[in-house]
Amino acid sequence: MRLRRIETFTNRFIGFVRITAEDGSTGWGQVSTYNSDITATVLHRQIAPWVLNRPFDEVDALTDLVIEREHKFPGSYIKRALGGLDTAIWDLRGRREGKPVTSLIGGTPGKLRCYASSMRRDITPEAEADRFTRLRDELGFDAFKFRVAAEYGHDVDEWPGRTETIIPTIRKALGNDVALLVDANSGFSPQRAIEVGRILQDNGIEHFEEPCLYWELEQTKQVTDALDIAVTGGEQDCELPTWQRMIDMRAVDIVQPDILYLGGISRTLRVCRMAQAAGLPITPHAANLGLVTLFTMHLLRAIEGAGKYLEFSIEGRDYYPWQEGLFVESPYAVTDGHVTVTDKPGWGIEVSPEWLARSQYEVSEVG
Ligand SMILES: [Mg+2]
Repeated sequence: MRLRRIETFTNRFIGFVRITAEDGSTGWGQVSTYNSDITATVLHRQIAPWVLNRPFDEVDALTDLVIEREHKFPGSYIKRALGGLDTAIWDLRGRREGKPVTSLIGGTPGKLRCYASSMRRDITPEAEADRFTRLRDELGFDAFKFRVAAEYGHDVDEWPGRTETIIPTIRKALGNDVALLVDANSGFSPQRAIEVGRILQDNGIEHFEEPCLYWELEQTKQVTDALDIAVTGGEQDCELPTWQRMIDMRAVDIVQPDILYLGGISRTLRVCRMAQAAGLPITPHAANLGLVTLFTMHLLRAIEGAGKYLEFSIEGRDYYPWQEGLFVESPYAVTDGHVTVTDKPGWGIEVSPEWLARSQYEVSEVG
């Protein structure tokens, strides 16, 4: 089966991709969020010429071909754009077979436990504790992630003492029956991360994400080796050899690929196989309610070694205004702290026609 057309519908925050095969069947995917208009340009200019009128049955072979042909452009943008193509191919397959994507990769529809994921550091420890308590009571979440350090803060906190205060404040407010996770977003030196890690351990926190500059794998490994708490990371990494190195050296205890930063479901499955071979759990990164969280739901219902929960962003209109009105029906209803992968074909969603009508449109097709 050959690819005939690639269409993109974007704004600067998010971009959807529709592909059409030679038999007229279609599939919908999404490029990664942020600068999605630029990413769509990359898709049309640097990827479409290599993939149009070519068989797409072997997705790994297709993405490898693009990466080799565009070898002067390693890094993020090509992978973000490939994510849009890959996820549209998986949707097309699902629609054609009448099965959800999770079933195509060995899973089943059903529920997934979520952790409520805060994106904010401008929030006081008390306000964050109030927010989590409300979410627990209203939606039944029993796992929460909050932020420590300052993003790329080089040991300077968001404000003095915030990290030391928020850890016990959240634990005290939520009690001992909930799982607590933290994210440092590359904010610490190894020494400071180990110091903070001991406070986390004393408060029963179970997941310490991205303690050090993420590209300094040896720094992260130093923290992992020094602490008992699970050190986690990998969301930014989009090159497969980096993943292999990170896993071989056990830089982290839990791997966190982001399906769209990495280049799609097929490339994420390759990272999952590396992690499975090493016995490391997989708790992917999914930081917004564009399609990345839905893609991650289908993945987690399918893979061996899936972590304990799905990352589920709790930020709304004030923080992510671009998330509003994307779908005809939201796939993100939470009940008892769980979301559900349905048995609808493909990803099981329809992008809102009103949203599409307001987007920037571009098409590449076989001439
Ligand atoms: Mg993170």
